[in-house]
Amino acid sequence: PFDVLVVGGGPAGASAAIYAARKGIRTGIVADRFGGQVSDTVGIENFISVPYTEGPKLVAHLEEHVKEYDVDLMKAQKAVAVRKTDSGLTEVELSNGAVVSGKSVILATGARWREMNVPGEQEYRNKGVAYCPHCDGPLFKGKKVAVIGGGNSGIEAAIDLAGIVEHVTVLEFSDTLRADAVLVKKAQSLPNVNIIKQAMTTEVLGDGQRVVGLKYKDRATDETHVVDLAGIFVQIGLVPNTEFLKDTITLTERGEVVIDDHGQTSVPGIFAAGDCTNVPYKQIIISMGAGATAALGAFDHLIRN
Ligand code: FAD
Repeated sequence: PFDVLVVGGGPAGASAAIYAARKGIRTGIVADRFGGQVSDTVGIENFISVPYTEGPKLVAHLEEHVKEYDVDLMKAQKAVAVRKTDSGLTEVELSNGAVVSGKSVILATGARWREMNVPGEQEYRNKGVAYCPHCDGPLFKGKKVAVIGGGNSGIEAAIDLAGIVEHVTVLEFSDTLRADAVLVKKAQSLPNVNIIKQAMTTEVLGDGQRVVGLKYKDRATDETHVVDLAGIFVQIGLVPNTEFLKDTITLTERGEVVIDDHGQTSVPGIFAAGDCTNVPYKQIIISMGAGATAALGAFDHLIRN
């Protein structure tokens, strides 16, 4: 067995593996797609000490850094189940039927943004369709944008973006906003934020290069409207990649792995880090820090057991 077996090869998993390997213990990574969400990112401007980089470049650096150490990197391997054995090991079953085991396991399987599934969304992803206001907000300075979703993340995004962009249109599918009242009040007080309810986004419009607008249907009247804008922030939920863990460890109602200060889950010896956990903010730099915490937590567990 590995001393530390990491499941996931995004920033959290890569960081955890490097921290573990630096302790001189047997470390492995199983990752469905090494790089994770960073592979889908174009410009990154908030990875502190690196003013600008791009997703694929950061992924290449992550891999290079992992390979500096004696880490067994198993790419294109998907975990489908995790279980404790009677001897205290943790087994990770892969989709090809193989089983790998660790004296400790770090889950770093990340998350995925829920998509609108409308025409144009995939075509204009990173060309105006965005999912992270902290990351991409400044790219739309002085322009008009929409936020899809009137929950907490959508209304927070609208307030955040209102300070940067020219105008924000919030489109909420239902007839009420699910966000906290204090956020809704704040958003409604801003002169450059307009909130439209009962709006079903039906299409992302582009000119072949970039987003130029969107189409939505007013669910009350059935009328279709077009809004001209340069950016669309989709804020309809971040879904953790934890479906395969629900029988083994405690998850929140949203499916996030519950961890303590040391990154440990409800099962001793199983740790977790990054976007798959219940940390409040989901960013590259935060998941790398969490990966380091989980690895140090796992090492502590190993020397005590
Ligand atoms: P992920 O990056 O999601 O990695 C998860 C890893 O686990 C992947 O290797 C995946 O293949 C693997 N995996 C999942 N399930 C399994 C399984 N069952 N078995 C095996 N492996 C599995 N953050 C910033 O700080 N700055 C930005 O500019 C920025 N821009 C972004 C732009 C986009 C388009 C997106 C989608 C996100 C952006 N983010 C940005 C957020 C950032 O990418 C995430 O916070 C970060 O990648 C989370 O790291 P992670 O390691 O926890 O998870």
